Amino acid sequence: MNINYEELGLKVGLEIHQQLKTERKLFCHCRPELVEEEEEADVFQRRLRPVRSELGEVDIAALFEWKKGRTYVYHAPRRCTCLVEADEEPPHEADEDSIIIALAMAKAFDSKIVDEIHVMRKMVIDGSNTSGFQRTMLVSLGGELNLGDKVIGIETICVEEDAARKIDEKERLTFYKLDRLGIPLIEIATSPDIRSPQEAKRVALRIGQMLRLTGRVRRGLGTIRQDLNVSIKGGAKTEIKGVQKLDIIDKVVEYEVMRQLKLLEIKEELIRRGLKEEDVLKQPIMDITYIMKDSESKIVKRALKRGAGAFAVKLPKFAGILGTEVQPGRRFGTELADYARFWAGVGGIIHSDELPKYGITEEEVDEVKRALGCGEEDAFVMVLALGDEARKALEAVKERAAYALKGVPEETRAANPDGTTRFLRPRPGSARMYPETDVPPIVIREDMLKKAEKLKPKNPIELIQELMSVYKLPKDMAEKMISSVRFDLAYRLVKKYHGKLSSTIVVRTVVDTLRELEREGIEVEKISDERVEEVLDRVAEGSIAKEAIPDVLRKVAEGKSVGEAIKELGLVDKIDVDAVVRDIIKENIEEIKRRGAERSFGLVMGKVMAKLRGKVDGKVVAEAVRKALKELEEDAGRP
Ligand SMILES: [Zn+2]
Repeated sequence: MNINYEELGLKVGLEIHQQLKTERKLFCHCRPELVEEEEEADVFQRRLRPVRSELGEVDIAALFEWKKGRTYVYHAPRRCTCLVEADEEPPHEADEDSIIIALAMAKAFDSKIVDEIHVMRKMVIDGSNTSGFQRTMLVSLGGELNLGDKVIGIETICVEEDAARKIDEKERLTFYKLDRLGIPLIEIATSPDIRSPQEAKRVALRIGQMLRLTGRVRRGLGTIRQDLNVSIKGGAKTEIKGVQKLDIIDKVVEYEVMRQLKLLEIKEELIRRGLKEEDVLKQPIMDITYIMKDSESKIVKRALKRGAGAFAVKLPKFAGILGTEVQPGRRFGTELADYARFWAGVGGIIHSDELPKYGITEEEVDEVKRALGCGEEDAFVMVLALGDEARKALEAVKERAAYALKGVPEETRAANPDGTTRFLRPRPGSARMYPETDVPPIVIREDMLKKAEKLKPKNPIELIQELMSVYKLPKDMAEKMISSVRFDLAYRLVKKYHGKLSSTIVVRTVVDTLRELEREGIEVEKISDERVEEVLDRVAEGSIAKEAIPDVLRKVAEGKSVGEAIKELGLVDKIDVDAVVRDIIKENIEEIKRRGAERSFGLVMGKVMAKLRGKVDGKVVAEAVRKALKELEEDAGRP
C-alpha cells in the first residue's frame, strides 16, 4: 500500500524506556538483577484497589481493572528483593547514579534540567507494582534531537522504577516476580513531531544508540521498551504499549494507521447505511441456548457441557463489516472480541460474518437470525458463557459497535510481536499523578552536573572520527561499532588494547562474532563481558590465534571457563609454540646448518605452521621462529 502519511496528518510521539546499568535499585539497595532459576523466594498475595487521586477522581481504567476482581501473587526472590519491593517498608533515598545518567541524556538533548527533583506516584492498575503505583521523577523538560535533516522535539526525561515481571496468569490469579521491580529506567518522551513510520524507527534507533553511547544502559531482550502515540486526521490518539524490538516500530505505526483508516471507512459506511447509535444500544441480549442445544459444533457442545449458555445480540446494518480486516489477520470482529474479553473475561465471540464455521451449520445460523429478527443488512454476535458473563460481554460488544459511528475510540493497545496491536484498556484519564511523601526531593548539585557532563554521549560523527584516527578502525567498522548493542564493551576494550591488539580484531569479536554466534542459535547472553575480555587477553598475549575466538566463545557459552575451552579445543599456548619450534629445528638441524640459520626461516616457518595453523597466530609463530634461529646462530658463532 502506497500511503501519503503527510496528507493523512500522521502524528507519532515516542516514549522510550531503557533500563540503566547501576549498582542498586532506584529506591532500595537490592541488586538490580533478574533471577531465572528457581530459588529461595517469599510468596504473598494482594488484591489492589484504586486509590483516589488528589483531584478526587477515581481513574476509570483502575476502577475496571479492580472490578474484574483479580488477585495478584508475588514471588520475591530473596537474592534481589527486600521489604521495599514488598511494599512493607518505605522507599529509601533515590539512587543518585541513575539521576546522573538521566542528566547526561538531558545535556545531550539540550533539555532544561529542573532545580529540584520530586518523586511522584503514578497509578498502576495491573498489579505490576505491589504498592499500586509507580514512582517517577521528572529530570528535565524540552530539548531536541537533531536528525541532521530534521529536528524532533523532546518533551520530558524522567527516571522511574521498572515494574514487576508477569510470569503467569490463571483465571483470576496473576503471578508476578519482583526481581525486576525497582530497576531504574530512563524514560525519554518525544513530541508528536514524527510524520512517517520510517521516521519513527529512525528516531527510536537514534535515541537507543545515544543511550548506549553513555555506556550505562542494560542490554538484552526486555531492557528497552517503547510506547507510541499514533494519530491521524479524523482518528484518535492511540497509545501503543510495550514494543520490545526497535526494528518493528515502522510496522507498528503502519498497521495502526491502517486500522484507523479502516475504522473511518467503517464509520462512513455505517452512516451511509443510515445506522443510529441507539439502534445498536437498544438491542436486547437473547438467550438462544434452545437453538444451539443440539448443535454438532464441538465448541458449542463443550461450552454447554460445562454449564454455559449461548447468548446473542443483533448488530443492525453490520453485515459484512464484522469480517472487514482492520490489520493483517485482525478483523473488526476481533476488535469486538477484545472488548468482550476485557470487560467480561470471556474467551471470545462468534459473529455472523464468519459463519457457518466451527461446526455451526447454515440452518442454525438462519434460526438465530430469525430469532433475533435479522434482515439482509444485519449481523449478530454470539457468546458462549455463563449468563452474567455473556450479558456483560455482549453489552461491551454493543458499546464498541455503537462507537463505530464515531470512528476511532481512544484506547491503550498492546503491541503483538508481528507489529499488529490488541486492545489493552481504555485510555486512562489525566488524574494519575500525586506526590510521593516518603522520599525527600533531590536538589541537583554542581558535582552531579559535572559527572553528567563526562557521561554525556559523544556526537556519533565525532566518535567515528576518533575511532578512525586514534584507533585506526576502518570507517565501516567504526559505524558498525557505534550502532552495536555492545558499544560500551567494544569501546572500553578498543581503548584497553590500544597498541597491543588491532582494534579491528576487538570490534570483529565484540560486534560481529557475538552476533554471528547468536544467529547460530548460541546463547550469547551467557558469555559475560569479562569472559570476552579474557579471550581477547589471550589473543593479545599470543596464547591463542584470533581464528580460534569463535570456537572458544562457543565453549564459554556452554559454561566452560576460557582455560578449559582452550584445553578442550587442543589449542596450544605460547610455551608450547617455542617447544614446537625447537622440535622442528632439531629434526631439520642438518638442513639448517647447511643453509645457515638466517636463510632457514622459510623452511622452519613452513613446517611449524603446518602443525599450528588455525591454533596459533602466524605472527606469534614467526616471532618464535626468528628468536630460535637467532639463538642458534649465536650459539654457532660462539668459540
Ligand atoms: Zn529491595
